[in-house]
Amino acid sequence: MAIIIDGNALSKKIKDNLRVETDALFDKTNKRPCLAVVLVGENPASHIYVASKEKACHHSGILSKSYKVENMKETELEELILKLNQDPEINGILVQLPLPEGLNEEKIIDLIDPIKDVDGFHPYNTGKLWINLKPYFFPCTPWGIYELIKEYKIDLSGKEVVVLGRSNIVGKPIAGILLQKFPYADATVTVCHSRTKNLEEHLKRADVIVAAIGKPEFVKEEWVKQGAVIIDVGINRVADETSPKGYRVTGDVDFQTVEKKASYITPVPGGVGAMTIAVLLQNTVKAFKIQNGMKD
Ligand code: NDP
Repeated sequence: MAIIIDGNALSKKIKDNLRVETDALFDKTNKRPCLAVVLVGENPASHIYVASKEKACHHSGILSKSYKVENMKETELEELILKLNQDPEINGILVQLPLPEGLNEEKIIDLIDPIKDVDGFHPYNTGKLWINLKPYFFPCTPWGIYELIKEYKIDLSGKEVVVLGRSNIVGKPIAGILLQKFPYADATVTVCHSRTKNLEEHLKRADVIVAAIGKPEFVKEEWVKQGAVIIDVGINRVADETSPKGYRVTGDVDFQTVEKKASYITPVPGGVGAMTIAVLLQNTVKAFKIQNGMKD
């Protein structure tokens, strides 16, 4: 049976430590880190995510300023981002994605000052990630995975990692991070996607599988090598009449069967998902320190 990687526990530890750190920063500077959260539109999932980010900020002694609007023209959103870039009281800017139709996400992210880009999506930060110069910020979900790997002292040096999915927010950046000559990383990385041929063969030789495709319980036990490390990023809702909500949340891995073969596995929920907000808060505190001329 695999060791279950507890994302809730590490997330709580990071958030509690940040509280201590922000209180100390307040004693020193009379200021607290501040995150601006921009939410355009009525997407219910986005509203839930934003509410949990605000709650987590509060827990860790970080101020949050919300800019929630039902509708916004692209030029208005651009003006807001430029204003937040200039505002010395704002340390981090988060634009909740996806943006409603008609708003160009790439253009908006490009406008965020890289030193306030706490989501780590700006080309400056993603580019620095790939060329192994330290970006200001690593994207939250991939860095959360790396934090879990470090916490459990799983050394990936020279290991075969297969990443399922090539999105800009998960697949590509986690491949970039695990490829670097970082402690616990330094792996041989293969990235697979919907056009990959012989997917099963790639998975069968993997020492580590990072599944980020958004397909419930896609990775089956027979494709997993004995003792493999399984990182499940997927968050999928599937109908479940036995649950009062009528659905349950599941990952991209068939947990029940794969757990028996893996050496380590992240559960869903309570694994990677729990880490994303913790890293967002870490990045916001880092932004505050950089902008106030302190060493990180
Ligand atoms: P995207 O939809 O942006 O990307 C999915 C990727 O999976 C694409 O590269 C796609 O290939 C690939 N893919 C889809 N189907 C298959 C298949 N059958 N075989 C191989 N590859 C396939 O998803 P995200 O990266 O945004 O998210 C992935 C999952 O992770 C989702 O469940 C999402 O909810 C979850 N997630 C969780 C987060 C967290 O905090 N834990 C944060 C972000 C996402 P192609 O490029 O060819 O289309």
